[in-house]
Amino acid sequence: MWVARQLASELKGTTLTFMPYPSKALTIQADRVGIIFPVHIWGLPRRVIQFINHIKVKPGTYLFAVAVNAGQPAATLLQLQKLMSKRAMPLSLGRSVAMPSNYIPWGGPGPIEVQQRLYKEARKEIKAIAESIRRGEQSKVDRGPLWQNILFSLIYKMTFRQVNKMDRKFWVDEKCDGCAICAHVCPAANIRMIDGKPAWLHRCEQCLACLQWCPQEAIQYGKNTVKYPRYHHPEIILDDMLEQAKAKRG
Ligand code: SF4
Ligand code: SF4
Repeated sequence: MWVARQLASELKGTTLTFMPYPSKALTIQADRVGIIFPVHIWGLPRRVIQFINHIKVKPGTYLFAVAVNAGQPAATLLQLQKLMSKRAMPLSLGRSVAMPSNYIPWGGPGPIEVQQRLYKEARKEIKAIAESIRRGEQSKVDRGPLWQNILFSLIYKMTFRQVNKMDRKFWVDEKCDGCAICAHVCPAANIRMIDGKPAWLHRCEQCLACLQWCPQEAIQYGKNTVKYPRYHHPEIILDDMLEQAKAKRG
C-alpha cells in the first residue's frame, strides 16, 4: 500500500484502486495500468492471479508492475509476465522494490536501522520506476539469480495449494479481548468471531494482517511469533487497513 501510494504521488493524476476478487470480467479503460503487489512465498499471491485472469485492458495500454518483496523477488515477475501474455496483455515494465518483511514466523522485518535503510532505498527506487513509467520504458522484468528462480519457484509451486489452509497454525493467547479488529482487517473475510474469539476459516492468504494489527498482540502463529514484536509500515494506519479489507471483499 505504501509503495503504491509513493508511486502514485510521483506519477501525479493517478487513481489508486485496491485489487478486488472479481467474479466477472473487469474492463480497465486507462491508458496506463500498474499492478503493485506483494510477493508471497516467492511468487504471485492467489488474489493477483485471479485479478489478472479477470481484467481486460484497451489495446495499446502501457502495462507495468511492481513486485514488493523482502529482498528476493525470484521469478515472480516472470510468472506475471507469462500470465499476462497468455491474456494478450504484454507487460512493458516489471520492477521489484525490497521492503522489510512482515512475515514474522520467518524472522520478520529485522532491526529498526535495517527497516529505515530499506525505506530510504525504496523511495529512491520508486522515483526511478516513476521516471521509467513516464518515459514509457519497455524492458526486461526484474528477476533473481537463476538458482533462486529455480529453487524458490519450486517451493512456491509446492506450497501454493496449501496457503489457504496455513491458517491452522494461528491461535490466540489470553490477551485477546474480543475486539474483532482481526476479523475487520482480513482482506479475505477469513475470520469469524465465535464466542468472542477469532476462528480462521481456511481461505487464508497469509498476509498476516490479522496478526500484525491485533492491538493486544494476542494472535500467534505456530511457536515462534511469541518472541517477535509486531510490524507494519509506520505510515499505514488502522483505517487504511479497514478500508482495504472492505474494498477487497467487495
Ligand atoms: S484483534 Fe486481537 S484482541 Fe481483537 S479479537 Fe482479534 S485476536 Fe482478539
Ligand atoms: S488477515 Fe490473517 S486470516 Fe486474513 S488472509 Fe491475512 S493472514 Fe489470513
